[in-house]
Amino acid sequence: MKVVKTISEVRAQVKDWKKAGLSVGLVPTMGYLHEGHKSLIERACQENDKVVVSIFVNPTQFGPNEDFAAYPRDLERDAALCESVGAALVFHPEPEEMYGEGFHTYVNMEVLSETLCGKTRPIHFRGVCTVVSKLFHIVTPDRAYFGQKDAQQLAIIKRMVRDLNFDIEIVGCPIVREPDGLAKSSRNTYLSPEERKAALILSQAIHLGQELTQNGETDAEKIVQEMKNLIETEPLAKIDYVQAVDAVSMQPVSKMEGAVLVAMAVYIGKTRLIDNFIYES
Ligand code: AMP
Repeated sequence: MKVVKTISEVRAQVKDWKKAGLSVGLVPTMGYLHEGHKSLIERACQENDKVVVSIFVNPTQFGPNEDFAAYPRDLERDAALCESVGAALVFHPEPEEMYGEGFHTYVNMEVLSETLCGKTRPIHFRGVCTVVSKLFHIVTPDRAYFGQKDAQQLAIIKRMVRDLNFDIEIVGCPIVREPDGLAKSSRNTYLSPEERKAALILSQAIHLGQELTQNGETDAEKIVQEMKNLIETEPLAKIDYVQAVDAVSMQPVSKMEGAVLVAMAVYIGKTRLIDNFIYES
């Protein structure tokens, strides 16, 4: 497995693979890899001849008061994980390689990026769409893999691929959790032992929401309210949002009909965590 830092090295490698008729999968990440990322890379390795993992903490998707500088980084450990799972190439560019001087072109999605996380993080999805578009142009994969953990991101990338005619199959992969239910996240490393315990309230609320729907509750607002009530019992938790939206358009719904995404962002201390489930009637 190779680790490269430049766009030209990625292009040269992919060109050789394509000449040999090999299929290419891409797994975009911000690094500090865990079992969630691993499941995406494994799936990509099963479905493609060659797999590229990008590891790039993308500055344009962080707001000015967010954790860009503090975001955990460990390239050596990440590269070892990628190699052990069977990736062929790690692309680890510096910000200057991706955003040269005078960079002024962004991919901005309307509507889908204006709800949920997009409300609290107004430039986040512009940064995500821009960097993912760039990675798609650089790697030209046949398939790209994203986690359901970031459900709004997955919906937005699917829409972007459709709207901008990328010839790439987007594969969504299930949420990987810790044994006690907490969704795996690089940001879990920010949690103190006390906060780590408190963070369980997110997956407990997800579980409650799922249970309510399984018991036949169809009133989305009632489900959301019960989930909020549960989260509010945890003193260290502060709700950013809990909301039910159409799983494709990301617009609020009041009834559990069709495919509904029930998503949340909750601060545990200073750490903002997300979780979600999809209900399909
Ligand atoms: P990140 O490094 O946080 O940008 O995540 C890179 C990719 O891994 C995204 O597509 C995420 O949705 C996915 N991912 C992160 N955490 C998980 C998880 N716990 N389960 C499944 N996929 C995940």
